[in-house]
Amino acid sequence: RPNIMALLPILRYPDPKLHIVAAEVRTFDAALQQQIDDMFDTMYDAKGIGLAATQVDHHQRLIVIDVSESRDQPLVVINPRITWSSAERVKGEEGCLSVPGIYDGVERAVAVKVAAQDAKGQPFEIEADGLLAVCLQHEMDHLMGKVFVEYLSPFKLGRIKSKLLKQQRV
Ligand code: ZN
Repeated sequence: RPNIMALLPILRYPDPKLHIVAAEVRTFDAALQQQIDDMFDTMYDAKGIGLAATQVDHHQRLIVIDVSESRDQPLVVINPRITWSSAERVKGEEGCLSVPGIYDGVERAVAVKVAAQDAKGQPFEIEADGLLAVCLQHEMDHLMGKVFVEYLSPFKLGRIKSKLLKQQRV
């Protein structure tokens, strides 16, 4: 395909479309590859380390990730399923392209194993810890319609909502 950057608009919290539960990907075709390419362009442009299809209003179980410093290790994760997660959990600071400017602590499993498919539909397994494990859990939440700030206290969540709504009115 011609190498044209396509940037997709990213939904911003508290857009109700962020709560749509994504459907399984069943067709691994050129349209899916195009969606993947556009999501990588969008994620790299926004300087994110992960982007779920839900965030660009495309409700299929598709995630793109790159947690490398060098920004050259793209990972496509389709129809992901956690097959194992560590009992050990850790609280780390998270942010989200759909919740700009907000960073807060969320407790996650330290390590996970995820079964998924690649862009061609080939099954593979990821064993992740560190940033990749956090990123996978965060993005898989998006596919279920959950945004990380919803783990915070109702008080904090209320403040975040009103702050973001104010920004969007400007
Ligand atoms: Zn996010």
